Amino acid sequence: MTDASPPYLGRFAPSPTGPLHFGSLVAAAGSFLEARTRGGRWLVRIEDVDAPRSVPGAAEDILITLERFGFEWDAEPVWQSRRLDAYAAALERLRAAGHVFACGCTRREMADSALARDGSRIYPGTCRAGLPPGREARAWRVRAEGTIAFEDRVQGPQHEDLAHEVGDFVVLRADGQFAYQLAVVVDDAEAGVTDVVRGADLIGSTGRQIHLQRLLGFPTPSYAHLPVVVNAAGEKLSKQTLASPVTDYAPTHALLAALAFLGQNPPQALRGAPLREVWQWALAHWSLAAVPRRLQAPAPTGVFALPNAGTDTHPSHTGSST
Ligand code: GLU
Repeated sequence: MTDASPPYLGRFAPSPTGPLHFGSLVAAAGSFLEARTRGGRWLVRIEDVDAPRSVPGAAEDILITLERFGFEWDAEPVWQSRRLDAYAAALERLRAAGHVFACGCTRREMADSALARDGSRIYPGTCRAGLPPGREARAWRVRAEGTIAFEDRVQGPQHEDLAHEVGDFVVLRADGQFAYQLAVVVDDAEAGVTDVVRGADLIGSTGRQIHLQRLLGFPTPSYAHLPVVVNAAGEKLSKQTLASPVTDYAPTHALLAALAFLGQNPPQALRGAPLREVWQWALAHWSLAAVPRRLQAPAPTGVFALPNAGTDTHPSHTGSST
């Protein structure tokens, strides 16, 4: 590292769509430990840019849960819903430079287009050269060009042919909401985030984010995508898959489970220890290199059984409670 490198700044960026679940705890713990063990600062950003999906009270609930689990952030949390002017300014810059175009296509009209890795449709290019007569602008899309390559610090070398694998993507949605891809890029750049450590469900978004960073003249952070926690059915833990709130568990047990999931091998002796000691151990032993190079992995069963949709297991059922 040279003297010119900016100081490490990491972040955890939950979407307030429900209470914090074990999958989000894993992402929070991984990004926090990497930041702290590299002498860095760590921020929390509430990703409520998608107003229709945000659940009232969920953000406050997540912050309280993070505090209860012993996380400490270095500045007031940033709320995306309060930053719409910054996103509008970035969009205006893209527009002025000709990097975006108005699109009048409906979802139904694109139903035959090929699917991108994240399940969205690869844009067929209908409005790329200008809105065809009789069409009205609905969304704004950025022109996707070139191949993006980056070295992921957990998953290894990645590359994505943006035009063919993703297509021109939306930065301002038809419902008037700024797209996550734009918001995240503007926020990370403005905060000075140097290192993104997050779930591998977002690895397919990284090419789009790097493309936007380049168009906007922002630096590209380093990326580390942690394996995503899946339930017995192979589904990512989320509100939709009925993941239970992490507050259902004793913080020490949940944190130990998160560390085990991240390949850190915490000693069994810590199971009865105070939360503070678990953090002390984690800070002394954290190794990003030990994180399994997998896009997803099942929830660990040894430390506590995580409930799956339709079953009702609880940590006390593992026989660990006193
Ligand atoms: N808000 C996203 C999520 O909760 C995370 C975005 C990011 O870390 O870049 O899945």
